[in-house]
Amino acid sequence: GFKGSCQKIRGPEIRNLLEAKEFFLFDCDGVIWHGENAITGAPKVVNSLIRHGKNVFFVTNNCTRPRENYVSKFYRLGFTDVMQEQIFSSSYCSALYLRDVAKVQGKVFVIGCEGVRKELREAGVPFLEEDDPPDATIYNCALSPDVKAVLVGHDDKLTFLKLAKASCYLRDPECLFLATDNDPWHPLRDGRILPGSGCLTAALEVASGRKATVIGKPSRFMFECISSQFRGVDPAQCLMVGDRLETDVLFGSNCGLDTMLTLTGVSQIEEAEEYRDSEHSPNQSLVPDYVVDTIADFLPAFED
Ligand code: PLP
Ligand code: CA
Repeated sequence: GFKGSCQKIRGPEIRNLLEAKEFFLFDCDGVIWHGENAITGAPKVVNSLIRHGKNVFFVTNNCTRPRENYVSKFYRLGFTDVMQEQIFSSSYCSALYLRDVAKVQGKVFVIGCEGVRKELREAGVPFLEEDDPPDATIYNCALSPDVKAVLVGHDDKLTFLKLAKASCYLRDPECLFLATDNDPWHPLRDGRILPGSGCLTAALEVASGRKATVIGKPSRFMFECISSQFRGVDPAQCLMVGDRLETDVLFGSNCGLDTMLTLTGVSQIEEAEEYRDSEHSPNQSLVPDYVVDTIADFLPAFED
């Protein structure tokens, strides 16, 4: 078996694996696209899996878009057979968690972008909608007694005042503390990076002395969302494909899925081998079962 061996696979091995699995979970950035560009061959792979009757899901920690926005992005990039029901984003799953699991009675204070607010609105989760006037500070602003949860995610309009308010709300131990995801950073072009939600979560954890409940990968919750919406999702019949060991492969391991690292994104095969050869046993959850250069390596499996 290949379990936890980070085995580079090709040709017939890939074909056997694709035949053996019924459910395919794909991370998005670094696996099927880089920002606004599809990874070469990825649309054909995804469309072929769907046409062969496989169940395909997308699990992304990117909370910046609402799901309907992803549907048009998929279509625009050539993934013409993808429907909204197949897309599980950290903002959508955060809204489901607040509504169905935490059942918050009160309002949510949001640090996040429009994608997060849109999903909350669609799920019917009330949140504080306020625009801070330019002269507002933590000394003179109002705090709402209705806030019963703080949700933190990527926010390109983050202000010190928002951080300060969130820290104040979190003084109440009854106030829930959620993070869409805990990603540290994301690669951009030319060696630049985008700081991830994780650095905002870290700021609030320090200020509040509390730990956030993380919704996105590597937490199991996104998989629970999938299993509650689709019948018969058996972990043994799933393959999780990702580009980051610490989020995607760990997520797959946490959910009992076979895992595959694709080398078109963040993690390198050497890092996977280091985890595999490490003495520290929790590191084994970061070791993928399979490795491919790109998911375009699936293409020959659809030819005969
Ligand atoms: N969050 C943000 C803000 C991002 O820009 C990205 C990737 O571009 C991600 C999360 C990671 O997305 P994924 O889980 O699809 O790799
Ligand atoms: Ca990724």
